[in-house]
Order: sequence, then structure tokens, then C-alpha cells
Amino acid sequence: MTSVTTPANFKELGLITPLLARVTELEYLQPTPIQAQAIPSVLAGRDLIAGANTGSGKTATFALPMLQHIFQQQDADKRLTSKKKQGNYVTGLILVPTRELAKQVADSIKSYAAHLNGAIKTLAVFGGVSVNTQMLALRGGTDILVATPGRLLDLISSNAIKLDLVSTLVLDEADRMLSLGFTEELTALLALLPKKKQILLFSATFPEQVKALTQELLNNPIEIQVQSADASTLVQRVFTVNKGDKTAVVAHLIKQNEWRQALIFVNAKHHCEHLAEKLAKRGITAEVFHGDKGQGERSRVLDGFKAGDIEVLIATDIAARGLDIEKLPVVINFNLPRSPSDYMHRIGRSGRAGEVGLAISLIDHEDYHHFKIIEKKNKIRLEREQVKGFEVAEVSSDSITAAAKPMAKPEGTGKKKRKKKPAINADIWSGYTDPE
Ligand code: AMP
Repeated sequence: MTSVTTPANFKELGLITPLLARVTELEYLQPTPIQAQAIPSVLAGRDLIAGANTGSGKTATFALPMLQHIFQQQDADKRLTSKKKQGNYVTGLILVPTRELAKQVADSIKSYAAHLNGAIKTLAVFGGVSVNTQMLALRGGTDILVATPGRLLDLISSNAIKLDLVSTLVLDEADRMLSLGFTEELTALLALLPKKKQILLFSATFPEQVKALTQELLNNPIEIQVQSADASTLVQRVFTVNKGDKTAVVAHLIKQNEWRQALIFVNAKHHCEHLAEKLAKRGITAEVFHGDKGQGERSRVLDGFKAGDIEVLIATDIAARGLDIEKLPVVINFNLPRSPSDYMHRIGRSGRAGEVGLAISLIDHEDYHHFKIIEKKNKIRLEREQVKGFEVAEVSSDSITAAAKPMAKPEGTGKKKRKKKPAINADIWSGYTDPE
């Protein structure tokens, strides 16, 4: 990846005064590594490919230059007066994988634009809510549109928006978009965009699909890789517990440490409610967040959690990506995530933007082998700890081997079975039920 000289403060990045004033107001003392490395080149019009997670400051990396370009262009247009935009234009388009992220990114952009005299119209559109309201809001065009791919295509097919004036495209969490099955939608959308445009692509990981997309789309991009979870600010701990003790341990840890807020991850929607009920019996009020909740409820819960009104949130991996919860002190893996990359996404909710954070994983004997895979893939190695008062009877190597055995395959496949390690994402989770 290209190495670039990195300005140490915002003034050196080339941003206009109203944007500088806003970052000062937000108490951004200095640019994060990705901001320092990318903003000057993005302002100069270069394409960008960035390996960066939420928490790295990537939103400002694309939002500040985008706001600056559009603001300056509006000024130039006013002087020329000749260029009249069509009613359903969009200038800056940001594609994101989830509704929550769409809302969050749009909110950040509006905040960064606070001193641009209301000149820049920013909207978020996503599925799960009425399309009519969004169509109405889009009337007269939009300067910056943050969208999930499916809803954007719906809006295009009903002529509520056209993409032929897009000058900057941001693909945020490109790996996630592709893994969520947005490939066809993305292809359809890309075909509607003008040839000449700036593209900024952000992805936490670079699987083949993302690499292919990058090669096809980007023009001589600058490439930047930043570390996601900053080891100096995020502490990871793993506690071995007895199967059946997890709820008691979570309740004990929350009470003992007096965590102001905690985000607990489980692996299935119904586990959220189940765990909430069990914590309630132990005097801890928790709310739940998962894909079966309506949009209104999801927003209410998330806003409440962000505001600190909800202290304990139990969620599925839908909350693992992208969500920015300021100063979240702790993330707890009640169940381990299926894939090692999801582990990094989950723990990245804490210890963000230089804050001190803590990520705790509770593992019982059935989790040992899977956690080893998570460690290996993420190149980490954590000391197994015990929680005082909840010590594990004995950690035998037999129990580890037993837990590592893949689930029995249906009889009669005819193939001679070879002994092999269970693959991540494979059957070991398919029959998983909450032990408690
Ligand atoms: P992001 O990765 O864009 O989701 O940003 C993560 C968090 O970092 C957000 O709460 C931002 O407000 C915050 N942030 C972004 N840039 C900076 C900065 N330069 N200094 C301090 N905080 C920042």
C-alpha cells in the first residue's frame, strides 16, 4: 500500500474554514490516521481504497471532502448561473449495507455541515419504512444521499431519483454489502452512474469479490490500510466459565464493575429476549436489538442506548457492524460469533476513536476450539481467565476435543469420512441452543 506523508493537524489537510471550525467544535484534536492520510488526496479528486473499520474516523474521511466539493461547486454554479440541475438529481452518493448505518452516516454528515449555511441537503433512504415519505423528501433533488442498495433501486425505478449527475460515489463497508447479497443491486446501480466520477471504497476486509469490484471500478486509487481495533485502547479478555453459568457471570460482571453501559452479543434473535428475561430476574434491565424488530423499535432502542438511557443492550450481529456508540465501555460476547471477522467487528464497538474499551468473551468448554480459531485467524492470543466465584471445575483437553467435533452428518452419504477440523461458519453452530 502507498505510503503518504501525513499531516498532523486538521489545518494542514486543505479543508475550508467552516469545516475546520466544525471539527474544532467537535473536539477533534487531530486527524485520525486515515483522515490524515486520505483527506488531502480525496480533496484533490483521487479515487481511494481504504482498509478501515468503523471507529477509525472513516466517515469524516469521505464526508468532509465531499461536503467541501459540493459546497464549492454550488458557489461556482451560482456564479455561472447556467447549469440548472434536474429536480431529481443527486451529487454525492454513499452506499451502505444497513439502515442504521445509513441513518448514522447521514447524521454525521449533517453535523459536519453545521457551518455551511444549510446549503447542503443530505438525506438517508433505506428499506423497512414508508417509501412515500422518502420520495417526498427527495423532491427537488439531494446533494448527498446515503442509501441502502435495494431501496435506492426502488426509488430510481419510480423516478424519485436519478444518478446521472453523481460526481462522488462512496462504497462504505463494501465487504459487508457484498456478503449481504447486494452484488446484483450494486451492479445495477453502478450501471446507472456516469462514467466520470470519484470513487471512495471502504472495506474492513478484502475478499475476492471486493478485490474484483475494486479493479473494475477504481481509477489509479490511493491505497490506505489502517488498523481497526487499536490494541492500546481496546483490552480483550476471555473468561472460561461453566456451561450454564454465563447469565450469572454476566450479571455479576455488570454489577461488580458498575458498567454504565454494556453491549452483549448473542447468536440468535430469540436468545436476545431469553437472556433479557433471565437478566431481569437478576435485577438487570436490558433491551434487545435484532432483525425481527420493526424499524421504529430499532431506532428507539438504538437512540436510547446511544443516549445512555438504556444501559444494557442485547443484540445479534446486526449491531456488530458500523454502529458508533460513543464511549461504549464494554462489549460482551455471551455467545461467540460464527466467524473470526465478526469477532473483530463486535469488539470494535468499544474502544473507538482513542477511547479506552473492553471486550469480554465468555467461553464454556464447547467454545474452546472455536475461540482458538478466532484467535488464530485474527492473530491474537489471549490468556484464559476465570471469574472469581465462578471457577470452572476442570479444563480437560478431552473436553476441548469433544467440543471440537463437528456435528454428525446425515447417514448414507457414501463417502468415507476423513478426520478433519470443523470449519468456521460450519456445522458446529447449526444445532446450537442456548445451554441455559
Ligand atoms: P467513524 O469511524 O467515522 O464511525 O468514527 C468513529 C467515531 O470517531 C465517531 O464518534 C466520530 O465522531 C469520532 N471521530 C472521527 N474523527 C475523529 C477525530 N479526528 N478525533 C476524535 N474523534 C473522531
